[in-house]
Amino acid sequence: MLNNTVSETVSNSMPNQKIQSVTMQTSKRIISVIGRDFRLNDNPFFEGWKEHEIIPVFILDPFNQEEHGSNLKSLFFEYVLDFKRKLEEKNSHLYIVKLDDFESFLLKSKADAVRYSFDGEPNTLKRGHLIENICKRNFVKFISLWNFLIKPEKGSFRHRFNDFYTRVFKPSMESDRIKTIDPPIFLKTPKIEHQDEPLPSYNKRQNIIKLWFKDEKSVLMSFSDFLKKNLSSYHINRDLPAVDGTSKLSPYLRIGVVSIRQIYKMVKEHPQSEPFLRELAWAEFFRVWLSLHPFVIEREFRKEWIDFPWERNLELFEKWKKGETGFDLVDAGMTQLMQEGWIHNRVRMVVASFLTKNLLLDWRLGERFFYENLVDADLAANVGNWQWIAGCGLDAAPYFRIFNPELQLKKFDPKGNYVSKYVNEKHAKIVELERSRLNFLRIAKEFRERWNLRKK
Ligand SMILES: Cc1cc2nc3c(=O)[nH]c(=O)nc-3n(C[C@H](O)[C@H](O)[C@H](O)COP(=O)(O)OP(=O)(O)OC[C@H]3O[C@@H](n4cnc5c(N)ncnc54)[C@H](O)[C@@H]3O)c2cc1C
Repeated sequence: MLNNTVSETVSNSMPNQKIQSVTMQTSKRIISVIGRDFRLNDNPFFEGWKEHEIIPVFILDPFNQEEHGSNLKSLFFEYVLDFKRKLEEKNSHLYIVKLDDFESFLLKSKADAVRYSFDGEPNTLKRGHLIENICKRNFVKFISLWNFLIKPEKGSFRHRFNDFYTRVFKPSMESDRIKTIDPPIFLKTPKIEHQDEPLPSYNKRQNIIKLWFKDEKSVLMSFSDFLKKNLSSYHINRDLPAVDGTSKLSPYLRIGVVSIRQIYKMVKEHPQSEPFLRELAWAEFFRVWLSLHPFVIEREFRKEWIDFPWERNLELFEKWKKGETGFDLVDAGMTQLMQEGWIHNRVRMVVASFLTKNLLLDWRLGERFFYENLVDADLAANVGNWQWIAGCGLDAAPYFRIFNPELQLKKFDPKGNYVSKYVNEKHAKIVELERSRLNFLRIAKEFRERWNLRKK
């Protein structure tokens, strides 16, 4: 089935290996299985749009229906529909296909190649392998893309963020190596006899869509504005939840409404870009980590923390979820999560530390609750940060680092503006801070000592 008469250039978007332009003998007709890249700008799924027929496909499978919470789903599917409309304007069509029907769709399409992008998540990998096998048995070329900045490579850095940042991220990211792809002006998409699958039903959150939905152009414009007005003060204001000092890009990066390469390039042009670039690097650090160690979605990365005796107090967990702990900063954060599907990073750290260290509850409970409610829920960033806070993850904070929510409040929300926005009702404190801190330290110390003995 391969048509060798046309040559196509596929960028693998892996700047750490020098941007390679792989000239491939391909195909006139390419299926692009789009999973989290719902944009027109800098989208490798559309590379070669002038020469080739491109068939955009969104695959519905049990994974993407079950694993996400209603907030992310609401925004995600809004973007899927928006993207569908945008593609119609380009003379194209987003085919919505059930995973089980993909093989027959592929055969009907008479495609020569399938493009699929990996993101390090175990389910994407599983789905990718299924599709790759379908391609293999039908003699169709399978082209895998990595639409992030740094490609996972075993042993490329020690398990330290600073090592990753200086030895991998920075050298890989010299801007002249970063190639972005022009948006298609039109697409040649063949008509295929296919009844699009309806999108799954879910508890659609209109308030979340209203709060977060912006088209691609507006996201880029707001970000450009952020760079002009806020980048120079980002290193200070990023810690102040009452100030609009961060980019709020995370939901759009999660869904792929904007490309991380494009964002990187926009930031890099500015003086004082370093603090922001470091945060993008954290996202890459965790993504590379998850890709290389997929077990971390369930298990501690550092083995000395496996089987830690977490408490099973579901009553305390309920209070934490509802923002009824009696600690203003924690309660404000959890209320912000419930109202907006998003929490400021400083406050995410405080609520996560409070759950794991003061309430002694399993980090997995918090991780899942965040995942189900965040509009930017991203497996790599979420698991990475939860394990980091709990002290059991990659380059994690030492276990004895415990955020004091009252001191954090004084330091980062001194006028109480953030708290007063979200907390309407005072609650009784559910733990005594100092006692719970000492209790955690004692248990953690004993646990580590036992582990050291077992090791000997
Ligand atoms: C317990 C916990 C759970 C988290 N879960 C998620 C999650 O599910 N999805 C998610 O995108 N982020 C997560 N984060 C990271 C961080 O809180 C958010 O990325 C950030 O608050 C998003 O807001 P922003 O876009 O305004 O960030 P900005 O400060 O403007 O940063 C720009 C971008 O850098 C990246 N970034 C910033 N901080 C981090 C970080 N600590 N780790 C990884 N990437 C970072 C994000 O892509 C972010 O959009 C979590 C943090 C904690 C402490």
